[in-house]
Amino acid sequence: MRDQQVDLAVVGLGAMGAAVSWQAAVRGLSVVAFDAFEPPHSRGSTHGHSRIIREAYFEHPQYVPLVQRAYTLWAELETAAATRLFQACGGLMIGRPGHDLVDGTRRAAAEHGLPVQTWTAGEVRARVPVLAPDPEMVGVFEPRAGVLAPERAVGAMLDQARRAGAQLFTNEAVVGWASKDGQVEVRSGSRQVRARRLVLAAGPWVTSLLGELRLPLSVERVVQYWYATDGDDRLAPSVFPVFLLQAPDGRMLYGLPDQGRGLKLAEHHGGSTTTADTVDRAVSTTEQSAFHAFATRWVRGLAVAPMEAAVCLYTNTPDSDFLLDWHPSAPGVFICSACSGHGFKFAPAIGEAVASAVSSGALPHDLAPFRLARLR
Ligand SMILES: Cc1cc2nc3c(=O)[nH]c(=O)nc-3n(C[C@H](O)[C@H](O)[C@H](O)COP(=O)(O)OP(=O)(O)OC[C@H]3O[C@@H](n4cnc5c(N)ncnc54)[C@H](O)[C@@H]3O)c2cc1C
Repeated sequence: MRDQQVDLAVVGLGAMGAAVSWQAAVRGLSVVAFDAFEPPHSRGSTHGHSRIIREAYFEHPQYVPLVQRAYTLWAELETAAATRLFQACGGLMIGRPGHDLVDGTRRAAAEHGLPVQTWTAGEVRARVPVLAPDPEMVGVFEPRAGVLAPERAVGAMLDQARRAGAQLFTNEAVVGWASKDGQVEVRSGSRQVRARRLVLAAGPWVTSLLGELRLPLSVERVVQYWYATDGDDRLAPSVFPVFLLQAPDGRMLYGLPDQGRGLKLAEHHGGSTTTADTVDRAVSTTEQSAFHAFATRWVRGLAVAPMEAAVCLYTNTPDSDFLLDWHPSAPGVFICSACSGHGFKFAPAIGEAVASAVSSGALPHDLAPFRLARLR
């Protein structure tokens, strides 16, 4: 078995592990990283061609500085990799005043001085005719929101990590690790690495690497759907914003413009609890019909059957905030997972903050809201 000594070992090369590997390698750390599959792949949480990025963050204003840093780093990555990862199209948060989505978006915008506009339901229908909000709803429009390309982004981060000297081993699962004598030993089937620090970025598999540490994380099966648009130019990114719509019962529908694969729609949460290894990846016609019945209430002209459907996984904390913190009892081990279904947009900023944590041994101020202690 080969044996190596490095500054940092990373388990998982999805959005988070790729970002940490890239950011740590460009800081000059020696990095060895593993993935059980060949990323970007479609078994975890980072597939489906598109992800929303938005700035007036309804979940909590504390996310705004982190997403603003991410915008900067996504642009730097686009330049370094000479590829396009972001398409601006604006974002529309639709719901009733008094409900989380509208009030949270306005609160984040007000606290951070972000330019948003509030449209009446009639204005939403006039400007985005495919959407059909109730008369009691409003739409809060933010101009900076848009769409990121997750698979291309992971590929670009991995390329940049390699160029900066990181060694990335794919199709090579980590089967165990141990923290002792100021070092962390990490084992795959064919390799043993000794590192000063270890980052666990295994997404929906993370609990399988946490042994005795019983964290209240749950993996949720969610389905993304793509619908034919027959070239309807009202759904093009130049005129159709990403949107979230909170129905009166609290369920949340979201959608992304047609970038050549159709109109993408999904429900944010509402999926069944599962595990990454046992999840049912088939999407039945019964669940397609149930989703259609929900979505067609808010989106006009939706075909009955989608062109494509794909299962993806959220790793949720009980409060839906992230978990980004040092392991409480294993020195040198950092847990970088559980992004509760909304982490992709932040990946490079999380990667940067975690790289700073592993360099300094401390927890950067930006990550204070995501500490583990709140979950125990
Ligand atoms: C349908 C859907 C829509 C979403 N929409 C958005 C959105 O619009 N905007 C947004 O910001 N976020 C969104 N998210 C959330 C976002 O995509 C995730 O938070 C993010 O991609 C999580 O990345 P990750 O690296 O933690 O997990 P993953 O991508 O799952 O990566 C974990 C990696 O660890 C590897 N691994 C696991 N165990 C081992 C092991 N033992 N050894 C080696 N490797 C291992 C896996 O193979 C995998 O590659 C969405 C998520 C889903 C599922």
